[in-house]
Amino acid sequence: MTNPAEPLIFDGHNDVLLQLQLAGGHAAVSTFASGRSGDIDLLRARKAGFAGGFFALFVRSPHDRAAKERLMQAGAYDMPLPDPVPAEQALPQVLEQVAILLEMQRAGMVRICRSTAEIRTCMETGMMAAILHMEGAEAIDADFHTLDVLHAAGLRSLGPVWSRPTIFGHGVPFRYPSTGDTGPGLTEAGKALVRRCNEKRILIDLSHLNEAGFWDVARLSDAPLIATHSNAHAVAPHSRNLTDDQLRAIAETNGLVGLNYGVAFVRPDGQLKPEVSLDLLLRHLDHLIKILGEDRVALGSDFDGAQMPDSIDDVTGLNALRSAMRAHGYDEGLLRKICHENWLNALARTWGEQAET
Ligand code: ZN
Repeated sequence: MTNPAEPLIFDGHNDVLLQLQLAGGHAAVSTFASGRSGDIDLLRARKAGFAGGFFALFVRSPHDRAAKERLMQAGAYDMPLPDPVPAEQALPQVLEQVAILLEMQRAGMVRICRSTAEIRTCMETGMMAAILHMEGAEAIDADFHTLDVLHAAGLRSLGPVWSRPTIFGHGVPFRYPSTGDTGPGLTEAGKALVRRCNEKRILIDLSHLNEAGFWDVARLSDAPLIATHSNAHAVAPHSRNLTDDQLRAIAETNGLVGLNYGVAFVRPDGQLKPEVSLDLLLRHLDHLIKILGEDRVALGSDFDGAQMPDSIDDVTGLNALRSAMRAHGYDEGLLRKICHENWLNALARTWGEQAET
């Protein structure tokens, strides 16, 4: 990176593994080092001071991208949820994505981290840190055999649902304007999943859960409440964003919210259009800080998973985001917190480590 004094950024969500899978799987892994057309690769990450973050395992439903774009550019909308994906269909895809990450580690591109000490070592040595995260638990069986095996492979974070339903619960459809109060909460299997994740100290990601599911986790979980990549409903009334009541519940548990740059969740009109100023991202950050406090707000880009604002474009846009935060009056201490310290402290609390100072 150009200026070593810049605080490194640790990030709450990317879909690089899915994109590498779609680009050819193992054959595409080398492009992460040599350069690729998506949002993140090693060269650009270095220029941006991007230290790593949550790498999602995600099974994509068949979808018509053009139809989605038409719909989400047409004022109010309510995207129909894709059909559930059975475990026997999801598991091979998830295993391929884990294998891709393992190959990236073998090639020296990333290190799969299971503790904040490992993440800090990566940050000191310039190695990209990866938390193995699952977005939507389609591949997990109700007896948790898959969960146990993936945990042994390094899984340390899990969202019970992406937006489509699983045996564990229901997610929010992409709906605007709407709160996340869109359906029933966790199933009995979902409640058991929360308890199992608590036992294994696996982070339970609230992003994509509907409100009923959110409050079920809030009642059941003994861990800090964390939404890895979600925004403020008060700024943009999209179903994926968090209401002030939800933000207050997250604050009460000393949890965390990572700011999502995806344009449909940032824009007050919910439109899937790239024109998004950095000021608008700062309006979300200001609101999140107002309710959560300075120690519980971080970043959760959705790189390689959502349409990025024209003001950020790809990982190199993080330099402009830092500058915008400074110009907006955030001091160096707050910048460090938002960029990585808050994530590291929240992970330490979630994973049951001694609190970092
Ligand atoms: Zn997501």
